[in-house]
Amino acid sequence: MKIWHPYTQEAVEPVPIAIDRGEGAYLYTADGRRLLDAISSWWVNLHGHGHPLIAEAIARQACKLEHVIFAGFTHEPAEELSSRLAAILPPSLNRLFYSDNGSTAVEVAMKMAVQFWHNNGRPEKRHIVALEHAYHGDTVGAMSASADSAFTAAFDALRIPVLRVHSAYCHRCPVGKTRSSCVIDCVENLEQLLEQRPEEIAAVVVEPLLQAAGGMIVHPIEFLQRIRRACFEHDVLLIADEVFTGFGRTGRMFACELAEIVPDLMCLSKGLTGGFLPLAVTICSDEVYQAFYSEDRLRAFFHGHSYSGNPLGCAAAIANLKIFETEPVFERIAAIERIHSERLADFRNHPAIDDVRMLGTVAALELRADDAGYLSNLRSRLYDFFIDHGVLLRPLGNVVYTVPPYIISDVELHHIYDVIGKAL
Ligand code: PLP
Repeated sequence: MKIWHPYTQEAVEPVPIAIDRGEGAYLYTADGRRLLDAISSWWVNLHGHGHPLIAEAIARQACKLEHVIFAGFTHEPAEELSSRLAAILPPSLNRLFYSDNGSTAVEVAMKMAVQFWHNNGRPEKRHIVALEHAYHGDTVGAMSASADSAFTAAFDALRIPVLRVHSAYCHRCPVGKTRSSCVIDCVENLEQLLEQRPEEIAAVVVEPLLQAAGGMIVHPIEFLQRIRRACFEHDVLLIADEVFTGFGRTGRMFACELAEIVPDLMCLSKGLTGGFLPLAVTICSDEVYQAFYSEDRLRAFFHGHSYSGNPLGCAAAIANLKIFETEPVFERIAAIERIHSERLADFRNHPAIDDVRMLGTVAALELRADDAGYLSNLRSRLYDFFIDHGVLLRPLGNVVYTVPPYIISDVELHHIYDVIGKAL
């Protein structure tokens, strides 16, 4: 049987590259080439490929308990991971629900939010508010919250209606301002919506501070802070989708921490296991949980997956968090940030560059293009050029970005920028 690869149009794209093994920042192809993984294999790999601590933790756990049904059962790795996450999250986020990928983490959060109001006797509060340019995943609920795009075009009949509000995409300001003169005017769109329709709205879902697949769009911190405030004021839950931003990507453990806000629900996946195994969590406040706690079985949260709380995934995630404690991870992150700032400055006035964005370990260059957007023709030309030069960079249309694993060396990161420069 032939494999059907995600997002791939075989009629126009080259055959997939066979990877034999990974080590550190590199992937080694079956035909003997080496690729520098400048995007952490879809933003999941934090500490390099094949980190022995995570590999060994998975192997040890596999010999003990590979999996067990998670309804009515628990196990040590699930309990330990939940305690370890509690130690690095705000105390009010104290209930954790396991699932197995970023989309399901968001799907769970949206369902929890809707059922929270349902259980509280306010079923009319059932609408989700989401941002322009959002990407929350490919399952139907998460895809509904995602902005209209190539990812959703064929599925409008399936998508649930979501209330859409402006994103703080400063380079293409939705209200025609420039950053130097604006007072985050774009957020008024959301503030007015919550003020006008609080009775209908269950939750606002955001990618805090950074919209990833939408083009690595960096928001001013005040934008997120104002969203948090508006949700408080109008009795609406705030879901922070930290699937991408979690675990150091923004320079702090979580983007919400950087913005000094606490959401009502938070979604984590991708880097949770250091990039080894699919695992996700949706974490909520006690207030949310209490709406489900009842002698009435119908108030329970009827959502689960066969691999919920998989012990191997939990063991990998524990090892990932131990690496944060035992290795100088935030020093590595700071080094990446320094090089990003320095090298992006060189590109700022390049004639091919329209905008330059950066947050923590994430750096993006928006290229000038007549067909700007995910389907820009620039994308495949750039991708092929980067691969030919031994670097895995997978532009989002006309946006070239790098999200390297934290163990990348200064020389390797400079090399990524040199190759981008050559491409331009
Ligand atoms: N949420 C965000 C912010 C993401 O960036 C992604 C994936 O890129 C997802 C959710 C979906 O995660 P997954 O691909 O694991 O389903």
